[in-house]
Amino acid sequence: MKQQEEQTAEKKKNKSPEKPSIYSLKLEELKKWLTANGEKSFRAEQVFDWLYVKRAASFEEMSNLSKNLRDLLQEHFVLTTLKTLIQQTSADGTMKFLFELHDGYSIETVLMRHEYGNSVCVTTQVGCRIGCTFCASTLGGLKRNLEAGEIVAQVVKVQQALDELDERVSSVVIMGIGEPFDNYDAMMSFLTIINHDKGLNIGARHITVSTSGIIPKIYKFADEKTQINFAISLHAPNNEIRSRLMPINKAYKLTDLMEAVKYYIEKTGRRISFEYGLFGGVNDGVEHAEELAELVKGVKCHINLIPVNYVPERDYVRTPKEKIFEFEKTLKKRGVNVTIRREQGHDIDAACGQLRAKERKEETR
Ligand code: SAH
Repeated sequence: MKQQEEQTAEKKKNKSPEKPSIYSLKLEELKKWLTANGEKSFRAEQVFDWLYVKRAASFEEMSNLSKNLRDLLQEHFVLTTLKTLIQQTSADGTMKFLFELHDGYSIETVLMRHEYGNSVCVTTQVGCRIGCTFCASTLGGLKRNLEAGEIVAQVVKVQQALDELDERVSSVVIMGIGEPFDNYDAMMSFLTIINHDKGLNIGARHITVSTSGIIPKIYKFADEKTQINFAISLHAPNNEIRSRLMPINKAYKLTDLMEAVKYYIEKTGRRISFEYGLFGGVNDGVEHAEELAELVKGVKCHINLIPVNYVPERDYVRTPKEKIFEFEKTLKKRGVNVTIRREQGHDIDAACGQLRAKERKEETR
């Protein structure tokens, strides 16, 4: 029986869904599709309203569309292929969702509840190929990219859960599993869809994207001139330590990364955030803080210190609290904007770097 299940899961893998998700389409794309299919383009706004404002669960519900149009949509699209397998709530209110994809893979999405609102952390890939030596998401390598609609659906699903509490997703961080700049086009479509005022209407300044530092894509993103918050996983004050923590630094060196950062700031006028994970005995000394302050001198930025989260397969250790404060103080003294990231969802493995792509058959084991 179990063998049979595994074979089915195996067969399902790498198979395209029968129909694409309608959540993958930007408003303009939907307009084009509708006009090409003999419908008026304003219908696209009605469909968007059903998808993102009324958050319909089926095409059938879209009562101001003709029966013909509902059938046409039904024939060509599905709403979403995401199935909620698990929804877990942490003691601090953080919620973790495990979603199954059409091909049997599963991904994680996290909802963080802050005083100032609800923030969703979305996944962009099944697994990751960047190989950071401290991160759980990369342990099984990259299985595949997510479609834009699979990323959008994560936000819609979380919003549907919040609808029951009469609350709204107020911000989105692209910091779940995967490297968003390694799935650039889908990520950009996702951003356009959730940001659209006829859609979920999540303001650009309430969206943050984080990259491990794929330099050519940083230039490309700078040229898009969005108002989206931009973060870079820095984690080290010099090339030697960064290459040890993040193999991507061998291809895209810290010095070149800083050039790209300066280009981004010049082009957009916006400040950048650096994520700096503190790994005990590796990059957390006062001398590293001094070197870091020197590296970011004159750069319009903010540094987010993240105490390392435990990943069983990795042997990094936490920096003691006093040492974290000392690191922060050293940066502050040198005039650097810095905060220590508040931690959430520890008890349900929902913290930074703890998410991992799972396969359905593992879940049912
Ligand atoms: N791939 C993107 C998006 C991931 S964001 C990126 O690298 O930026 C998640 C953040 O958590 C990144 O800054 C990542 O480096 C960090 N992270 C990964 N594993 C971690 C761990 N075990 N402890 C603390 N932070 C971790």
